[in-house]
Amino acid sequence: MSQSFDVIIIGGGPAGYTAALYCGRAALKTLLLESYAPGGQMGTTDMVDNYPGFPQGVGGFDLATEMRKQAERFGAQSMFQKVTEIDLESNPKKITTEDGTQYEAGVVIAATGASPRELGLAREKELRGKGVSYCATCDGAFYRGKTVVVVGGGDTAASDAVLLSKICKKVYLVHRRDSLRASKAYLKPLESAGNVEFVWDSAVQEILGENKVSGITVHNKKTGADRTIDCDGIFVAVGHTPNTSLFQGTLVLSGAGYILADETTKTNIPGVFAAGDVREKALRQIVTAVSDGAVAATMAEKYLSGLAEA
Ligand SMILES: Cc1cc2nc3c(=O)[nH]c(=O)nc-3n(C[C@H](O)[C@H](O)[C@H](O)COP(=O)(O)OP(=O)(O)OC[C@H]3O[C@@H](n4cnc5c(N)ncnc54)[C@H](O)[C@@H]3O)c2cc1C
Repeated sequence: MSQSFDVIIIGGGPAGYTAALYCGRAALKTLLLESYAPGGQMGTTDMVDNYPGFPQGVGGFDLATEMRKQAERFGAQSMFQKVTEIDLESNPKKITTEDGTQYEAGVVIAATGASPRELGLAREKELRGKGVSYCATCDGAFYRGKTVVVVGGGDTAASDAVLLSKICKKVYLVHRRDSLRASKAYLKPLESAGNVEFVWDSAVQEILGENKVSGITVHNKKTGADRTIDCDGIFVAVGHTPNTSLFQGTLVLSGAGYILADETTKTNIPGVFAAGDVREKALRQIVTAVSDGAVAATMAEKYLSGLAEA
């Protein structure tokens, strides 16, 4: 027997919990399914310094716990189960979790987020948050006046290096090729910054440091030379993987694998909305995820009351 809800939200990051809060306040019977722990990527962040309302910053896990409590105060339920099967075309829509439980809902909000790609180096996980970062917009300010390394050659790496060049004493940009893949628009600010050194044809071999990052070693693939770079932080900007395998073949995805939905969060299937990092968008941050969550819940309410066609 399936359990029935008005709205099922898949994913318990900031987008999912904000959608749950808004759905709960709209008196919709709401279930949020999260595979791991509340907060998603935000929950793994030591300190969030750019979310408005917290002048001293706030711990990512603390913020996640408060978001969950706030949604539950208005009646939204959370279950910690991975969603493994979906049928979004049926009416009501059907969701199955890894323990085989089946749920039904009039609306599904996809808020499964994305995961930053790692370099796969031995000490990378251990030093995450202790000098290893995957988000310059989030953590750059912690490295004011310090020396950092950015790894990558695409738009994110280039824009991270531009941002960090304005804050840090020195920025090394390590890329495995001899030129950037990034838009040419980044080249001029990088070259004129005066504190950016390009380390071409090179791959990071090792992250150094005991309890925090103190440097890296790089291997030049053309010359075969190894080099040690002393630094306080390493920003890994080699892309993100959207958590969209569940939706493949059902929802329309972008070339990079994100769900195609504009700022209304509507997808190609009526009654299915996409919120947060999982959606194709310009900026993936907590503020934009919570914004999407609020919009998706409002669209869900309209859809269920017959006020919107999608
Ligand atoms: C290290 C790091 C630091 C960051 N620091 C900041 C910062 O300081 N400020 C800032 O604004 N942004 C920061 N960000 C970015 C910010 O965390 C993300 O933009 C935000 O968390 C996206 O929220 P989301 O809800 O869309 O997705 P996510 O946070 O990715 O959450 C998605 C959730 O969905 C769950 N999920 C996925 N698949 C399933 C499934 N099949 N079934 C059930 N659940 C599923 C996942 O377990 C996850 O909990 C940081 C990101 C990282 C990685």
